[in-house]
Amino acid sequence: MADTSSKSKNADASSPDAGPALSTALATLPGMSRARAARFAKLGLRTIQDMLFLFPRDYERPAPPAKVDQLRDGEPASLLGTISEGEVASRTPGKSVFGAIVENESGAVRILFFNQAFRADQLTVGRRVIISGTPKLNGLRFEFVHPKVTILDKSEDLPEPRMLAIYPLTDGVKQSELRNLAAQFLPLADGLLEVMPAELRKAAAERLREQQIDVVGDLPAIDAALRQLHQPDSDAQMFTARTRLVFQELLVMQLALAMKRRRSTTELQAPPLPSTAMVDARITNRLPFSLTGDQRKSIDEIRADMSRQFPMNRLLQGDVGSGKTVVAVYAMMLAVAGNHQAVLMAPTEVLARQHYDTLTEMLESSRVRIGLLCGSLTAAQRRDVFAGTASGEIDLLVGTQALLYGGIEFHRLGLCVVDEQHKFGVGQRVQLRGGGVAPHSLVMSATPIPRSIAMTMFGDVELSTIREKPPGRGKVNTYLAHDGWKDRWWSFVRQRLDEGRQVFVVAPRVTASEEDEGEDVSSVETVFEELSTGPLSNYRVGLLHGRMANDEKQAIMQSFAAGRTDVLVSTTVIEVGINVPNATVMTILGAQRFGLAQLHQLRGRVSRGRHAGHVCVFTDGERSPDENERLQVFEKTDDGFELAEADFRIRGPGDLLGRKQSGLPPMRIADLNRDVEILAVARAMAQEMIDEDPDLSDGELSALRDQMMRRYAKRLDLGDAA
Ligand code: ADP
Ligand code: MG
Repeated sequence: MADTSSKSKNADASSPDAGPALSTALATLPGMSRARAARFAKLGLRTIQDMLFLFPRDYERPAPPAKVDQLRDGEPASLLGTISEGEVASRTPGKSVFGAIVENESGAVRILFFNQAFRADQLTVGRRVIISGTPKLNGLRFEFVHPKVTILDKSEDLPEPRMLAIYPLTDGVKQSELRNLAAQFLPLADGLLEVMPAELRKAAAERLREQQIDVVGDLPAIDAALRQLHQPDSDAQMFTARTRLVFQELLVMQLALAMKRRRSTTELQAPPLPSTAMVDARITNRLPFSLTGDQRKSIDEIRADMSRQFPMNRLLQGDVGSGKTVVAVYAMMLAVAGNHQAVLMAPTEVLARQHYDTLTEMLESSRVRIGLLCGSLTAAQRRDVFAGTASGEIDLLVGTQALLYGGIEFHRLGLCVVDEQHKFGVGQRVQLRGGGVAPHSLVMSATPIPRSIAMTMFGDVELSTIREKPPGRGKVNTYLAHDGWKDRWWSFVRQRLDEGRQVFVVAPRVTASEEDEGEDVSSVETVFEELSTGPLSNYRVGLLHGRMANDEKQAIMQSFAAGRTDVLVSTTVIEVGINVPNATVMTILGAQRFGLAQLHQLRGRVSRGRHAGHVCVFTDGERSPDENERLQVFEKTDDGFELAEADFRIRGPGDLLGRKQSGLPPMRIADLNRDVEILAVARAMAQEMIDEDPDLSDGELSALRDQMMRRYAKRLDLGDAA
């Protein structure tokens, strides 16, 4: 068994005077108490090697000594000079004062110490010192009270200001301790196994520079990189060293993903479903509108994928309302044209029915047969759908998660589409098979994915993106409410209602509940009560939430869609896919409870028609700075991609898609937000390396391959890649 990230050459040196090895436990070092070792363990430091791979989170950069005329009142500075006078002004115990003058060619300052009489013996006239502290102007002279003093030897040259590593700390561990450990063990870095051959380091440095990433020279070997990371000679060297480690971490990940992509394309068989110009024209003619440029581009990408004999694995991302459905419909019709079945899975029954209706309408008077499978079917209806699917009588099947249970069998399944993929969780890959081959797969998501996430969590998937909105959309105005806006807002809402528009009101909770412990959180039940007896009492107000029975929800949605209800008070159950073009106004209460992606999804509900949409966002109680930033971004930006990048910036990747679901290990040194350019280079190089050598069998790369397999083989199911 290999040990952690880099196997050491001298780890198994058995001679008794070999000294500590990389794998030596810190706890066994001389002078290491059990308590101290336990504190280090809290930082993840168990062995010497762990210490070498403890990455500083920042660096201290001591300012170079200033000249006297550069000093500013109250601004920290350091100064090099000679003590020219020193005197004890008072010796009264408890009130002693020692003062001295420090002088250099640029002038003189005074230093003062209270109750540190010993200073008089230290700071004798003629001593060279560096003082640092915060000068205060006193009359015409700057004074440093209790500066930090470094006494220099007469002969000593000015020590170069060195960058000092700042490590992540835990209780009871001091910076200086970690700096000392690093200094003590850095010589052992020679023993680390190099996973990136010199040639690769050189090529990578060149590619990085092409992307304006300022690395100096070739990427350094691992030992040199660690030295520059713990004890940098300069910012440039430190940056280059860090880039090497970041690049390595990302390259290892991207190699694994590239290998995964390659295998899923070559190992599985899918039915080739080519589309001729005639098929294309026939399908396009059935669509109720002409396609936008991005829709057409996505469709062409899908056509190319589906014509191959290995499964398409594509993610179609596009903002709410960008028109993804029609792209999916196209792909499904292409499957049917090629004599195969297609299945479309939606996260809710409401949405599944909506898709079913859309398809039925578009395929009216064609021979295509469409089935619907969802939880509310009777046993007999369900049996029919199962039978029709198995016999091939049903061409297109639409359904909810119910599709995943009960062992449905397809006659000849060619395509599997999953709508609103983010609602199912990233990890949950849909496994539907039929006819002995793997179907093509298209997943759709309205949560735009920042570039870095697309290259990592979805690294084994191809991506199509719709950014362009269909024509004729009204604009959505978003307002972040201030205190006391409620009356004005409800009066605005009444005006829109009187013009015939419909209105959503969204709140985070169903009932005013105990779980919020005294905090005031808006609930739909309370709001429904307040509105229907108060400001909106003259209108038909409906209530919708997830705790209702399915057919009740169904009836309420239908009533709203048909215009029999004016106002729908709802939890986020309306977030997903509902299409009511006449609803143009939305009030979001308790908005601090929602993430940016979710708010944006909600806003998408009122941008469907030709009337301008209006969204007003209210919060309960005080907003934290983070909440405030999020809501301000939401008010300013209507572009889902920009919001996704902002969300990523504010909250980090963890929250965005649920890191736990991604199946990828957390990064140790790379920061996907900051290092996206390095990631792009790593991805491109990994792809080339795998194209050239699919199993990475080049002996020069065996250490790199080992590292990749250790981190990813199990997670990505790479087997042992013989
Ligand atoms: P989403 O991407 O959120 O799933 P939909 O596919 O539901 O969006 O489309 C939103 C609305 O836009 C639908 O009413 C649809 O009919 C309409 N639409 C989609 N594409 C076009 C287009 N190219 N031209 C005009 N309307 C379109
Ligand atoms: Mg949709």
